[in-house]
Amino acid sequence: MRGGSGPFANADLCTQCGYCLPVCPTYRVENNELHGPRGRVSLILALQSGAVTPAEAAAALDHCLLCRACHAACPAGVRPAKLALALRGQVGPRPTVLSRLLHRITNSHRMTARLAGLLTSYQRSGLRHVVQRRGWLHHLPTLERLDALVPRQRSLFPLPPYPDAPSQAGRPRIGLLAGCIGRLFYLAVAPAAAQLLAQYGGEVILLGGFGCCGAPFRESGARQPFLRQARRTLDAFVAAGPLQAVVCDSTVCAVTGRSYARALDHDPAYAAVAEDFARKLHTLSQFLAGRLKRLTLTAKNPGFAAVTYHDHCQTRFGLGIIEEPRWLLATLPMRYHELAPKDPFSSEGCCGAGGDYQLRHPERSQQIRTAKLAAIQASGAELVVGENPGCLLHIAAGLEQADSAVRVCHLAELLWAAYAQQQPTH
Ligand code: SF4
Ligand code: SF4
Repeated sequence: MRGGSGPFANADLCTQCGYCLPVCPTYRVENNELHGPRGRVSLILALQSGAVTPAEAAAALDHCLLCRACHAACPAGVRPAKLALALRGQVGPRPTVLSRLLHRITNSHRMTARLAGLLTSYQRSGLRHVVQRRGWLHHLPTLERLDALVPRQRSLFPLPPYPDAPSQAGRPRIGLLAGCIGRLFYLAVAPAAAQLLAQYGGEVILLGGFGCCGAPFRESGARQPFLRQARRTLDAFVAAGPLQAVVCDSTVCAVTGRSYARALDHDPAYAAVAEDFARKLHTLSQFLAGRLKRLTLTAKNPGFAAVTYHDHCQTRFGLGIIEEPRWLLATLPMRYHELAPKDPFSSEGCCGAGGDYQLRHPERSQQIRTAKLAAIQASGAELVVGENPGCLLHIAAGLEQADSAVRVCHLAELLWAAYAQQQPTH
């Protein structure tokens, strides 16, 4: 019987056709059925028939990046990433020491801010250079891996200040949800996004105090910590007062925030507010493209001749946001080079970061990144832009290791550098 009930019922729809295989980044690097979507669905079916244990199935499905490229490719409506998420939710998380440490830091707004300051001093003082040259972290592998995550170049443009208090009363109130990885590693992203929103949106209210939106917990199956972070984020949303929109400067937060509505639909205290939050949520490019299309603006060239865009997979395949960032980049006086054909099934897009996947499966994550870096280098772009700081970190580290001249930055930084201080004219 097909299409039964329960969290794994969707697996019954699989016809074993294999259309999903070429788009799966883990299958492409290994050519191993077990690490492709069809194999993952077969494992779920084996679990249902009792042929494998939940722990065995979870260990194998832990290798799924949750990119959702297979969702777009599957003609039968099978959702392998959702099946993997459901299983992780039943079996529980499999964190590494480093991912546990990073989640502990990003869960706390205060710890994130303190570590961000320490990282800046560590780099600017030259201490990092000395530590790396002398190999002082070789015997502390967790710290060495954390150190390797920090890109040498964390901002291409001068750090913008946060906007002043609003001068015009009655402007729309826009909440800015600044992602924790950006606040930790890319300090210019949140102020640049706030400046753009103040210029082209309205009064900016920085949602704060909740640490992280809960994405790593959701993706690893740690349900209770995820729900705790979701409620903390929603508390910040309510505390901000009535908002016309909420904008995320990190796209994974938008994907996660959208999921709150279903995750909390059983909770009478949060169900309605989670719905309201999800309805108002936008990525930065989604919001700005909507606003800038109504304006006449002239951008200045921020110093690069050719640019390309990196899609965060879950945003492309999960939220369907593809054209908005490209439209924004096309408004700048630079050439735009697409990385891969405009084929939604192309897996050239995945960088292999996958949130803390890069910490849990570093070798495969780097193998996938190799293909991404080759596509970037071949594109002729001097600058690769994205909206998900986790992906940008991973790409930047790869480009730096390859001594590439291609630079990396967040869309907010580039747009602020190009549009800084321009008054909108309708
Ligand atoms: S979500 Fe991505 S990594 Fe996982 S099976 Fe689908 S295509 Fe492969
Ligand atoms: S998951 Fe979909 S695309 Fe993949 S083998 Fe099954 S039916 Fe075919």
